[in-house]
Amino acid sequence: MMDSTNLSTWLEIDCQAIKTNVNLLHSITSVPLIAVVKANGYGHGLFEAATAVLAGGSEWLAVSRIEEAVLLREKGIRVPILVLGFTSPGFVQYAAREEIRLNVYGMEIAEAYHRIALEANLKLKVHAKINVGMNRLGVSPLEGLEFLRQLNSFHGLEVEGLFTHFPQAASRNDGVTLQQIDQFTHLVSELEQAQLRPALIHAANSAAALYYPSARFDLVRCGIAVFGLPPSKVAPLLEGFQPALTWKSRLVSVKTVQQGEAISYNAHYVTRKPERIGVLALGYADGYRRYQPNQVLIHGKRAEIVGSVCMDQCMLRLDDIPEAVVGDIAVVLGKDQDDCIDADELATRWHINLYDTVCSIAARVPRLLS
Ligand SMILES: *Cc1c(COP(=O)(O)O)cnc(C)c1O
Repeated sequence: MMDSTNLSTWLEIDCQAIKTNVNLLHSITSVPLIAVVKANGYGHGLFEAATAVLAGGSEWLAVSRIEEAVLLREKGIRVPILVLGFTSPGFVQYAAREEIRLNVYGMEIAEAYHRIALEANLKLKVHAKINVGMNRLGVSPLEGLEFLRQLNSFHGLEVEGLFTHFPQAASRNDGVTLQQIDQFTHLVSELEQAQLRPALIHAANSAAALYYPSARFDLVRCGIAVFGLPPSKVAPLLEGFQPALTWKSRLVSVKTVQQGEAISYNAHYVTRKPERIGVLALGYADGYRRYQPNQVLIHGKRAEIVGSVCMDQCMLRLDDIPEAVVGDIAVVLGKDQDDCIDADELATRWHINLYDTVCSIAARVPRLLS
């Protein structure tokens, strides 16, 4: 593990927690996992997240963009990778050679991939996307049989997978989700009868994998639960899942500021008495948002951020933590002694969802995998 001694702000990623979460998903769902590590591994670090999920026994990875798959291959990660989003046809030869599976979500893109692969004498593995109500990418279940028939006639393609994505699994809208599972299941049986069933059927994100057993099919495709974070308040994680991320920063200055002094830009905070004001090497360019009030933990106690968060620094009031000195560590997200600032608390303070809270932690923040 790289050492944090000389760092300003950093993330500690608990590999054992991620391994535990992967094992729990395996035992709960009884099917293999496609671990989703898009968006820089939900902020945990693309490579760090991939390393941890593979150590936990995940056989597959998924990302949103092929650029993310390229980074993983360049780091020597050889397992199958599925790209969930759009991939430009310009990447087809690379994907075919590197065993990267692409999403075909319509005839036009499928034909473009097929032509390029055929010309290069390659076979591209693809997963066909079905739209059951997300209305983002994918073919209607009613047109699914015909779509798969055509895909199978494209000799540049190998149709390895069929997948969909449920828009309301995390909001536990059971009526809608169960109906969408039914539509998808019906298509799967049509394909079975026509002997067109691809080898790998997958549909469930974390919420669906946990709460809708009939959505598990051949593999589940989980992201947020892998990192020990709940899909939503109404789709919480089960006992045993562990958050894997702790975000820390360092106190780089402590001074007493006289009464009536403005702290930071635009005087949003003015001292009410002589106050001990600390400076943390942490700012909005690290993904630490400007909303007030914000708190961090120092020696297990809460310290209030005062004044506007700057790009690379922020100030905090240390009157209630007299033992705090320059060099001390502040916990921005995670546990410190008996207290904890979890991702949900930050999400609430920042008026964003929990996914956004972690995936917007800036890439410049070093990730230390332990
Ligand atoms: C992000 C994503 C997932 C993983 O969702 P979680 O809620 O994080 O488990 C699965 N499938 C698709 C298509 C996605 O975009």
